[in-house]
Amino acid sequence: MRKIYVSSIVLLALFTATAVLFAQDAAKPRPKEEVNANSGTNMQLPKRVTPGGPPKAEAPKKVFPYPIYQKHMENGLNVVTVPYQSPGIAAFYIVVRTGSRNEVEPGKTGFAHFFEHMMFRGTDLYPKDKYSGVLKSTGASANANTSLDRTLYHMTGDSKKLETMFMLEADRFKNLNYSIQDFKTEAGAVKGEYTKNSANPYTKLNELVQNTAFDSHTYKHTTMGFFEDIVDMPNQYEYSREFFNRYYRPEYCTIIVVGDVRQEQVNELAAKYFGDWKRGTYQSVVAPEPEQKEARAVNLQKQASLRSSD
Ligand SMILES: [Zn+2]
Repeated sequence: MRKIYVSSIVLLALFTATAVLFAQDAAKPRPKEEVNANSGTNMQLPKRVTPGGPPKAEAPKKVFPYPIYQKHMENGLNVVTVPYQSPGIAAFYIVVRTGSRNEVEPGKTGFAHFFEHMMFRGTDLYPKDKYSGVLKSTGASANANTSLDRTLYHMTGDSKKLETMFMLEADRFKNLNYSIQDFKTEAGAVKGEYTKNSANPYTKLNELVQNTAFDSHTYKHTTMGFFEDIVDMPNQYEYSREFFNRYYRPEYCTIIVVGDVRQEQVNELAAKYFGDWKRGTYQSVVAPEPEQKEARAVNLQKQASLRSSD
């Protein structure tokens, strides 16, 4: 039963993360007051067309049937609460509006995904092992993933330990620290991940298609980055600091808490742990892709060897 609760609120949190991410334009000024976004940002189903007659007047249906409460903090952080019937369980998500599309400089691809790894290296206050120990004590599971447009960090656990989740996440988002040696070790792990993924022909084909389909836009490279940039990554320690400094800032982030929680409680914890997080200054500008004038094609051929099992 517990498993059902966990997986359903994780799905809810994921859905909310996606809806919130695409419903907002980061460049637009945000209202400071608290709003119930259920009336404002929810997607609505298109009106049904009735064959043979005019469409019947009916109230538009909401795709997402739960209330979404948002608070835009002074420092630019967006805090979203979705109370949901899941006794004792809460999912805590942080969406960083930075994916591989934000890797705009030549020779510096793969860093959004790289930080997904580095964020588990810990801080001075909570080094890796201590972080894992505290996380275990809350009974929470945690992980992260990166896409073209965002990086997502998530925890799901005991709703009574929500403050611990806030504390842990605020600490690493504000104070991530790592040595050059840690940096190089993780860069090696990313290279290994690229090599492993490349053994899958679908992954390799996707990489080639993106590279062929785009000329200017950063969708040209996958979230892993260009291989030559991954190989050079161990030499980019200083740049990694710059990347973190640019994007791990409140104005690039949305916190989403779903489950057995209250809006006031979430907003209070956000103010307590993220209120002093300093806004950054970096504006990410991605080159637009020119109109495509002709068909493009790419061919992938791989050698395969078949062995008899006996
Ligand atoms: Zn990875």
